[in-house]
Amino acid sequence: MGVKVAKFGGSSVADAIQIEKLKNIVEADPERRYVVVSAPGKRFDGDNKITDLLYLCKAQIDHNAPYGQVFQVIWDRFVAMEISLKVDVGMGALLEEIRERLGENPSADYIASRGEYLSAALIAAYLGYDFVDAAGLVRFDKKGKFLNEESLAALAEELGKHERAVVPGFYGTYPDGKIKTFSRGGSDITGAIVANAVKADVYENWTDVSGFLMADPRIVKNPKAISRISYLELRELSYMGASVLHENAIYPARQANIPINIRNTNEPDDPGTIIEADAIERGEGAPVITGIAGNKDFSVIAIYKNSMSTEVGFIRRILSVFENYNIPIEHIPSGVDTVSVVLSKKYLEDHVSDILDEIERKAQPDSVEVFDDMALIATVGSGMAARPGVAALLFRALYRAGVNIRMIDQGSSEMNIIIGVENKDFETAIKAIYAAFVEPGESMGSI
Ligand code: ADP
Ligand code: ASP
Ligand code: MG
Repeated sequence: MGVKVAKFGGSSVADAIQIEKLKNIVEADPERRYVVVSAPGKRFDGDNKITDLLYLCKAQIDHNAPYGQVFQVIWDRFVAMEISLKVDVGMGALLEEIRERLGENPSADYIASRGEYLSAALIAAYLGYDFVDAAGLVRFDKKGKFLNEESLAALAEELGKHERAVVPGFYGTYPDGKIKTFSRGGSDITGAIVANAVKADVYENWTDVSGFLMADPRIVKNPKAISRISYLELRELSYMGASVLHENAIYPARQANIPINIRNTNEPDDPGTIIEADAIERGEGAPVITGIAGNKDFSVIAIYKNSMSTEVGFIRRILSVFENYNIPIEHIPSGVDTVSVVLSKKYLEDHVSDILDEIERKAQPDSVEVFDDMALIATVGSGMAARPGVAALLFRALYRAGVNIRMIDQGSSEMNIIIGVENKDFETAIKAIYAAFVEPGESMGSI
């Protein structure tokens, strides 16, 4: 018998009704032996995610503000689920234990992790699966760096003892046993690691959309689903903001050559998206692009200097400034006399004048301009490089939509074109690109 790892996200475990759907899905296929779960997410628009409420408790504690009411909301949701699912995991006692710990102001990571912990305990009981805690198995070093090989070995050994198990996502432990979480959305990573550890045939990622869509459905109405996508294309899209799957969930699955299948808990018969290793041959008539993704709130520092390309060490001197401030750089598009440094706005905010002074001193540019409130949009597709006219169509679409392009960077993978636009034009630009490539009208022309 094969093995499937099924990870269920926040909306798929948001309440008893969703957990019933989860059970039907798991029971429909005996190969779904290992289940990884998130903390309960939103049940409806305007609802709260348990993880957000847990972080809120921590913020209240840090500010010496009362947190009892927020914790009560968490308490009530878990107890209601236990009652509706007719299981007995001693939820009251588990919650009481956490409440006591809150009095000692534990770390944010510990507090946040409790959502997944309780969710997994509850769902394990409901499925009749073993509960296997991620603590001690998903391992980080002292500095918080994830230890892949060690974790794989520990998980393989432990899960080998359990025919069927539920593992909480999102967290693991430091060497001293203290809890450490991944970044937000990190249950996807746990799922991929578990899949790798048990040598799964497929890693199923169950969420609230029928697969990876060509654009964010909150921006483009009813975007087309992508039936197959390569790891590389997916990584570009995830990194650039398509939030369906955490970008770091891709590496562990890829390492073991495990296909990822994004599925919809609310539409379990939909085939979803398959993510696989090889570049995808798409048939005649398929869109040239695979997808569009982006994010707001970047800054661009545009640096001009006459004949800069001939000056040895110029770019290194500029980049060393950012290194001094420990600031990661997203992109460095350059021309003959210009180089732009694109970075997340949050990193620049506190240091902008110091950084500009230092660039002035180290590189003596002719001028430097800073553009704030920029959004980056990536148009991704493995077939793009080979098709002439892709860039022309993209720029024509944006021009017609009245969007000003502030920066262009063709990724060296030749699998994407990244543009910088103002934050305010973000949604308009994505809609325009989608329309141009996926639903080209008569007037737009095609390639
Ligand atoms: P989960 O809680 O199951 O992990 P997430 O909220 O993390 O789910 O991811 C699913 C959501 O990602 C969808 O509800 C959708 O709003 C959003 N999303 C953003 N970009 C895309 C895209 N390109 N395709 C599908 N969903 C997307
Ligand atoms: N519950 C965590 C979050 O909301 C992790 C996850 O759902 O993947 O970020
Ligand atoms: Mg998610």
